[in-house]
Amino acid sequence: MQLAKQLSKLGTETAFAVSAAAADWAAKGNKVYPFHLGDINIATPENIVEATIKAIGDGYTGYCPGGGVAELRDAIARDVGSKRGLSYSTENVSIQPGGKPVIGKFIATVMDAGDEVLYPNPGYPIYESQIEYQGGTAVAYGYIETDTGFELDMDALKASITPKTKALIYNNYQNPNGAQSSRAEMEALAELAIKHDLWVLADDAYYEVQYSGEPMSIANLPGMQERTIILYTCSKRFAMTGWRLGAAIGPVAAIEIINKLNTNAESCTPHFIQRGMVEAIEGSTSGPDHILNVLRDRRDACIAGLNAIDGINVATPDSTFYVFPNVTAIMQRKGLTDVNQLMTEALHQTSVSFCTRKHFGRPLAGEKNDYIRFAYSGIEVADINEGMAKLKTYFES
Ligand code: PLP
Repeated sequence: MQLAKQLSKLGTETAFAVSAAAADWAAKGNKVYPFHLGDINIATPENIVEATIKAIGDGYTGYCPGGGVAELRDAIARDVGSKRGLSYSTENVSIQPGGKPVIGKFIATVMDAGDEVLYPNPGYPIYESQIEYQGGTAVAYGYIETDTGFELDMDALKASITPKTKALIYNNYQNPNGAQSSRAEMEALAELAIKHDLWVLADDAYYEVQYSGEPMSIANLPGMQERTIILYTCSKRFAMTGWRLGAAIGPVAAIEIINKLNTNAESCTPHFIQRGMVEAIEGSTSGPDHILNVLRDRRDACIAGLNAIDGINVATPDSTFYVFPNVTAIMQRKGLTDVNQLMTEALHQTSVSFCTRKHFGRPLAGEKNDYIRFAYSGIEVADINEGMAKLKTYFES
C-alpha cells in the first residue's frame, strides 16, 4: 500500500533531530549545554497554574465551542487590541492549541493550490512546509546582515512578487536571527502588501519578548488590520510551551473559517487551559516580568560569551531569545564546508548543542555566509558561561 504522494511536500522542524542527538549525547554520561531548542526551563507563573487546577476542579473538563471560550476570546481581543492600539472583539479571535496551528490554518484560509506565498528564510521551518504541503509555491525572502543585526532584503522581496502572489508571512521579531524591523521597513512591507492586495500573517510569537522599547506589529499600520491575521501565543511570554495555547486574530470572515477548521481538526483547545489562561492575561504581570528579566540576563551572558570568541562579532538582539552569529571565519579556520559538521563536532568536543542556518528553511541560492543559532531560553547563566568557555577553546583551535 502506498502513502499519499503529497507527503513528499511535507517538511518538519529538524531542530527536534538536534534535540535527539543532544539527548543521545547526554545518555552517554555527558553534561550537555542545551542551546538548540526555543523551549523554556522557567516555571509557568503560579497564578496561571492555580487558576487552571481550579478550572479542572470546577468541572471545565468537557468540550467547549470550536472558536474557544468567550471569556478568553474577549480577554485576548482586549490584550492584543490595547497593546497595538487596535479594536478587536470576540469574533476576531479563534483560540488554538498553540501558535503553530495558526500557520497551517492561515494558509488553508487564504491560499489556493498554485498560489505563491512569500515567507522569511532563514525562518521558522513550518512556513515552507505548510505552503508546499497545501499545494502552494513557497517563495523565500532573505535578510541582509548589518552592524546592528539583520534587515529584510526588500529589493529581492519586491522582485519576487508576481500576479500569483497571494500572501506574505512576516515574523517580527524573528526566529532564528532576532531581526527587528525599523518602522520604515515595516511601512515599506505594508505598502507592498496593500499595493499587491496580499493577505498577511503577522507571526507575533515574540511580540512580548522584547527587552526595551515599545513593540510594533504590522497590523497597526494603516490599511493593514483588515488583511492581517496575527499569530498569538502564550508559549513564550508565559513560559507555557507545553501547555499549547495560542490564537488567530483577524477579520471576522477569516476567523469564522479558522473556527470551522478547528471543528474539523481538534474540536477545541483544552477547555480548562482556556479558563486558566484568562488569569494569565488579566492577572498579575509579575510572572511574565520575571521571565523577561531572567531571559535578559541570559541574553547578556550569551552575547558576552560569543563575542569573546575570536572570529565572532554578533549584535545584541532586543527581542526573542535567539542569537544568530555569523561563523564563516570559524568555518574557514577549521577547514569545514558544511555548517552541520561544525554543529556535530562542537557537540562531541564541547557538549554544546546548537542549531544551524540549515534548520531554518532551504538555504537560498548565492548565500555566502554560515550561521549558527543559539537559543538561551532553556539554559541558566552559569551553564551559558561554562558552555561558552568550552566553545571558545574549540572554535579558536
Ligand atoms: N512562530 C515562531 C516564529 C516560533 O519560533 C514558534 C515557536 O518556536 C512558533 C511560531 C510557534 O510556537 P507555539 O506553537 O509554541 O506557540
